[in-house]
Amino acid sequence: MSHPVVGLDIGGTKTLAALVGPDGKPRDQRHAPTPARSGPAAVLDTAARLAADLLPAAGSGPLGVGTAGTVDPATGTIRYATGSLPGWTGTPVAEALAARLGRPVRVANDVHAAALAECWVGAGRDSRHLLLVAVGTGLGGALVRDGHVETGARSASGGVGHLPTPGAERLRCGCGRYGHLEAIASGTGLAAAYAEETGERVSGRAVADRAAAGDPTARQVVDRAGAALGRALAGLVALLDPGAVLLAGGAAETLLPAAAAAYAADLPPAWAHVPLRPAALGPHAVAVGAARLAMDGRP
Ligand SMILES: [Zn+2]
Repeated sequence: MSHPVVGLDIGGTKTLAALVGPDGKPRDQRHAPTPARSGPAAVLDTAARLAADLLPAAGSGPLGVGTAGTVDPATGTIRYATGSLPGWTGTPVAEALAARLGRPVRVANDVHAAALAECWVGAGRDSRHLLLVAVGTGLGGALVRDGHVETGARSASGGVGHLPTPGAERLRCGCGRYGHLEAIASGTGLAAAYAEETGERVSGRAVADRAAAGDPTARQVVDRAGAALGRALAGLVALLDPGAVLLAGGAAETLLPAAAAAYAADLPPAWAHVPLRPAALGPHAVAVGAARLAMDGRP
């Protein structure tokens, strides 16, 4: 494929459309706030408007979409989504965007799309087998096998946030259960732990900033979260045998030092050289992976 392809990233707060070249580099982009509170039709209208601006420069083939939620790979419909996009569950994203844009649309989960992009042109391009963990407000993941995402029986694989985690027993996870890794190692988890220690409610981002500025309580909260994440990743490496582990998302930089220390200390010797690295593609990862999905036909 020699012409550029449009990839869309539909997130809870922002929608990004990128015109992605055959080399995986974004050549042009459009973005807008996601009108999540206005419902799925408004979200799709915004996504279609951004994509339509770039389509004249793209080839005539499909475009790709990465979005929050579990995606039915056969139909491109959302099977399940959390509250970040109200009403998104059941939305026929592929069909609705194809009707608006007049060409085929392929849809994948956003973390799956990001992993595909990192394997293609990012921090995992030297490996066909990857584990990517995305730590932002919540904690998600994706497993790449032989250059494609292992999507699982219901396209929901990679849910590393729901691993049972020592020290998290009294903390509520985003899924509603208690004791899961996401309840500690996520923006939400940092905010909750800091509030428990200090009585003060601030965002996960603010906890990270305070830790960086030397606040000892924030530092301790961040170190605990990073250590829990690093230990979990070391165990997952033994289970999955990836060529590399990538840490993506808004809280990755904050958690990486403590995570890397715990990871190195906990890796079983047979996997001692499996690197843990920051992801490389930043805010474009999902759109680039969505474009790759459109080129390839499968995540
Ligand atoms: Zn959970």
